[in-house]
Amino acid sequence: MAPVYPLPDRIRRRINEIIFKFIWKGGTELVARGHLHNSHEEGGLELTDIGSTVRAMALQPLLSFELDLRLPFHPWMEYWIGIGLRKFFPGKWSNCFPHSCDPPDFYVKPLRDLTEVSKSLVLANKVPTKRFADTLRVASTPRIMSRDGPLGSFLHLWPAVWKGVHHQILDNRLKDLSWRIVHSAIVTNFKRYSWGLGNGECPRCNEMESIRHAFWFCRSNDLIWDWVDSVSDRLHVRQWHPSVWYILYGSSGPQCSVVNENFIWLVTSTAKRYIWLGRNAKVYEKIQFNEQTIILQIKTDIRQRVKVERQRLSLTKYQRLWPDINLRLVLDGRPP
Ligand SMILES: [Zn+2]
Repeated sequence: MAPVYPLPDRIRRRINEIIFKFIWKGGTELVARGHLHNSHEEGGLELTDIGSTVRAMALQPLLSFELDLRLPFHPWMEYWIGIGLRKFFPGKWSNCFPHSCDPPDFYVKPLRDLTEVSKSLVLANKVPTKRFADTLRVASTPRIMSRDGPLGSFLHLWPAVWKGVHHQILDNRLKDLSWRIVHSAIVTNFKRYSWGLGNGECPRCNEMESIRHAFWFCRSNDLIWDWVDSVSDRLHVRQWHPSVWYILYGSSGPQCSVVNENFIWLVTSTAKRYIWLGRNAKVYEKIQFNEQTIILQIKTDIRQRVKVERQRLSLTKYQRLWPDINLRLVLDGRPP
């Protein structure tokens, strides 16, 4: 939690209290607390300094940014805090990009911490350098990348994943859901179980409900993904079938024209949305939709979307994004 939420002072004091009570067995403290953070050679215990550790961890987003220029949020951070970070990493910055002069509040605190911490390293030398460096190294492991997703060790795939999440064919509802899936921010029953709530079972089939299960492996999705597969067949996409990696992360997509690829991604994303809505209807409203109903909902949604986009966009813009297809033939599998 430390990279996101600042540790309240009273909690830090309480933790320190417990540590020092343990060291001195509840008796009088014979050595100044600050001294115990020093190395053995300097007469200390190399005790972890909770305050600076937590602050170092809060710097994680800034440092992960500094470490890996391929991270998808790099351009945003460069814009917002490029100027603020310039004095720490002078070789990394360039004036060739636009920069904001006022970083948002969210970044102001970590930037201030970074300034303070670097000052304390140079001037007071209160935080042992090696331990602080270790803390930063641990703290700066990019969190999203180290999740148990399939892409943890395939950083080069992430640009494609983020492109899929923010794909211009998706409307905001679909972007939001894709974003949440990629961040593992979907509250499945397995997640609730990990919080000590419920038994983790899928409301539709009683297996453990992970994100992969909810969107792909659950048997109640089979017909829906078969239908998505048939849509790709009718777009003449050969030798490709949706996979769990494609539907969750957009990787291993079909090899076909860009507009067809767009359309398949839209159909897939819309299917994910209605699968999730159907699952929620079952959990919260005790309404069970069968797969055919869900497929109908997906088709209706896509038809409406196409209709609106045809009116909204100029013909050139529309043709750049959308395939020129017979919607009825592609979605329903029969000619008009
Ligand atoms: Zn299930």
